[in-house]
Amino acid sequence: MKLPIYLDNHATTRTDPRVFDAMKPYFLDVFGNAASRNHSFGWEAEDAVEKARKQIADLIGATAKEIVFTSGATESDNLALKGVAEMYAERGNHIITQVTEHKAVLDCCKRLEKDGVRVTYLPVRQDGLIDLDQLRDAITDKTILISIMYANNEIGVVQPIREIGKIAKEKGVLLHTDAVQAVGKIPVNVISDNIDLLSLSGHKYYAPKGVGALYVRRRNPRVQITAQMDGGGHERGMRSGTLNVPAIVGLGAASEIARNEMIEETKRLRYLRDKLKDKLMRELDEVYINGSMEHRLPHNLNISFAYVEGESLLMGINDIAVSSGSACTSATLEPSYVLKALGAGDDLAHSSIRFGIGRFNTEDEVDYVAQKVIDVVQKLRELSPLYEMAKEGVDLSKVSWTAH
Ligand SMILES: *Cc1c(COP(=O)(O)O)cnc(C)c1O
Repeated sequence: MKLPIYLDNHATTRTDPRVFDAMKPYFLDVFGNAASRNHSFGWEAEDAVEKARKQIADLIGATAKEIVFTSGATESDNLALKGVAEMYAERGNHIITQVTEHKAVLDCCKRLEKDGVRVTYLPVRQDGLIDLDQLRDAITDKTILISIMYANNEIGVVQPIREIGKIAKEKGVLLHTDAVQAVGKIPVNVISDNIDLLSLSGHKYYAPKGVGALYVRRRNPRVQITAQMDGGGHERGMRSGTLNVPAIVGLGAASEIARNEMIEETKRLRYLRDKLKDKLMRELDEVYINGSMEHRLPHNLNISFAYVEGESLLMGINDIAVSSGSACTSATLEPSYVLKALGAGDDLAHSSIRFGIGRFNTEDEVDYVAQKVIDVVQKLRELSPLYEMAKEGVDLSKVSWTAH
């Protein structure tokens, strides 16, 4: 086993060697511009792009013409939200989203608010799911778009997209979903899920960074978006810019692999995740799982370890690459807004760890991680007067502290 162990697969994934092999010829041999119509260099590049388009479409139940290539999901989210807001401005100016979205969606919404769009940010319940009645109640005759992520990047909670899509359809409102964490991991189908726009990103499912796509529905209804990038009119006018052919080939290859291997891979990752969870829960007390265990990605675990300091915990396990609920910026130590939205206190948010198990993790690695976390948490708690008091039955919420 090699250290450090990478267990941060929600942040990014290693490129699958099979994906890399598929990409290689498109750097040195088939290097044409896919928009060059006058020679074989261009035609071959275009063929490769169209093959990839089909592979990606097949993974999500779409048709090739509905796939628009982008530089990644941040761009896809921007194109979806701003593109719809601009295109449908005559019809209405209201968008509904939720508080635990990725910043790519939330910050788009903030920008749109400055331009006069009204945005409703639905809260989530303690399990991380939105309330469908609240969603229904939020829709007005000015609502043009609902944007709810498929699966959350911190807590792995999977929203009831199919039901959300049904509600959107009934009300004649478009549904966009940031499906970055779901695509390639769990079955996603734009038809049965009633999705009108969907963002995906290559580097979250074993393709390279800097390539992604936006699915834009073409019929029933035909969705239109206003381009946010002006230029050569690539991607049927929706996204100008010379296509990144090697990366797109990689995205296609990764999509085909995911489609073929998803069932087996899910089984394996769920087994590893549950093994990690069960061991931590068995050997440690005062640990809390953040978000629904039932409606959750099979490879995600997000746990708070009470009575330990997040920083010390991370330092203690520094041969394991994970993320914590503390977003450490230069000046402040802000707890995760996602965990706060679930009602977690600052302490529990700070002492949380996100484990993201991926294709290249082994059972040995997961066993090592479980034992290491247990050892470090136990050691830190031995030094914690708060933990000792709690064990002695002191209700810490009733203690009045004296400042010195
Ligand atoms: C990673 C991520 C993004 C951003 O994708 P990029 O391709 O890195 O721009 C957006 N949404 C979610 C949920 C993500 O996990």
